Amino acid sequence: MSGRRGSRPDLRSLSAEALGELVAELGEKPYRARQVFRWLHRNGAASLEEMTDLPTRLRAALAERCDLRTLSRAEERRSGDGTIKWTWRTADGLLVESVYMPHGGDGEGEAGNRPRRTLCVSTQVGCAMGCTFCLTGTMGLARNLGAGEIADQVHRANRRLVELGEGPAPRPLTNLVFMGMGEPLHNYEELKGALGLLLHPDGPDFSHRHVTVSTSGLVPEIERLGRETPVKLAISLNATTDAQREALMPVDRRWPIAALLEACRRFPMRQGRRITFEYVLLGGVNDSDDDAGRLARLVSGIPAKVNLIPYNASPGLGFAAPSPERVEAFRRILDARRVTAVVRRNRGRDIAAACGQLAAEGGPGDPRRRAPAGAAPR
Ligand code: SAH
Ligand code: SF4
Repeated sequence: MSGRRGSRPDLRSLSAEALGELVAELGEKPYRARQVFRWLHRNGAASLEEMTDLPTRLRAALAERCDLRTLSRAEERRSGDGTIKWTWRTADGLLVESVYMPHGGDGEGEAGNRPRRTLCVSTQVGCAMGCTFCLTGTMGLARNLGAGEIADQVHRANRRLVELGEGPAPRPLTNLVFMGMGEPLHNYEELKGALGLLLHPDGPDFSHRHVTVSTSGLVPEIERLGRETPVKLAISLNATTDAQREALMPVDRRWPIAALLEACRRFPMRQGRRITFEYVLLGGVNDSDDDAGRLARLVSGIPAKVNLIPYNASPGLGFAAPSPERVEAFRRILDARRVTAVVRRNRGRDIAAACGQLAAEGGPGDPRRRAPAGAAPR
């Protein structure tokens, strides 16, 4: 069962249906299950004690059968540009991060001038995929997060944002991107469980149009995601030939570019939807005019938009950011081929909250404390 570690399930990982069964087993009326679910996922209750309108006997019975794993806030760093990075501590003492990005009326992205408040969510402690340019990739995988721990990043962020006056209670966040630490599709079951909780009408009730899962390219799970969930897809492409991509992303040896793009072509596209292709521009590595031309050819025929992400250099990994002129030249080539491309503004760089900078400094997974343990699954 989802979220079960050891013998006691995590109450927050239970689906609405599983919670319904548990409450029925305890001999309680069905509406009680809904009440508990709302406490957990709409109000983001941190403990059973908070659920003041539940009978004490039900709270005691739940406490006896389940754990309630709530993340605690270990650190909060706020950037000059409004970005906030939180480091959360799990019940077993590991550190994971989420990044909040307000986008207010600056015309950025699809939403035009409607203000968006996005949370970038982690799905694993570390990552096993071993991409050579990515700080999280150097950590190796400590463990998967449970569905409840994935969802709880959203709950804790919502609560904190209400406290900070960033938006209306109970849910200031409008959008979610699964682009934090970890490879979401390498933790498929728990990711799917978390999506079920976060999109549930009795929970935070996010619209599938506002939720994006990013993957380095696990083809079978891309297909499952398309079949089993309604959310949007982003692909970290990052290179235009297999030789180049293999050197950056070991996953390419298992699922080369052709197979990956084929899965994208088959991905169910609701009306007007596009797949986002993320392309980290690494100075002198994948940022030539030829790369831009190949990229345009690769995505042609797929309803796509390209996010160009100038590399955030992490010391010791051996890559550099491209010059702003190179980034602009690359974008122009895509533009000339009618490929929608935006250069992602680097947000929160001053607080190490930008893409690929998430590595929970000082935690058990900090590369400065632990040798890289990660090898990509072959
Ligand atoms: N594991 C998933 C989601 C998290 S990574 C995936 O790879 O898609 C989110 C994005 O950050 C990916 O597109 C990745 O290519 C990019 N990224 C990683 N390190 C980066 C860095 N140092 N600078 C810029 N982008 C980076
Ligand atoms: Fe993992 Fe994504 Fe980083 Fe690759 S880019 S190591 S898949 S987090």
